[in-house]
Amino acid sequence: MAQAKRRRFGVSLREEVAEGLDELSRLLGTSRSNLVEEAVERLLEDYLHYREQHRCSGLFIVYSDAETLDVRKLLEENRDIVVSSSHVHVGGACAEIIVVHGDSERIRRLHNSLESLGCRVRFIPLHGP
Ligand SMILES: [Zn+2]
Repeated sequence: MAQAKRRRFGVSLREEVAEGLDELSRLLGTSRSNLVEEAVERLLEDYLHYREQHRCSGLFIVYSDAETLDVRKLLEENRDIVVSSSHVHVGGACAEIIVVHGDSERIRRLHNSLESLGCRVRFIPLHGP
């Protein structure tokens, strides 16, 4: 199999992020480049599908330190695209698992709103790029 063309460029990271990258690299026995590539691929997958409007399906994982009624309010306001949601308490924090289906622009707005509440948010599209 032919090796994929690679591009080099300089990236600066906060010291604690660089240390975490070194530690994970040692732990997993892989290069920092491989880890950065994998992390960027995941980020691209999570966000690039928003470039073009489409029927979208996906899964939000939302985590916040404190109970936030604003999340429940957002879900209620978007109930036409929220297929299901599950709220659990884990170690004094709140986690929300939300399955959505609908217009990608609406899902993108919900994504931004969840992030603006200060929650940690991951969105995993349940379709191809
Ligand atoms: Zn999508």
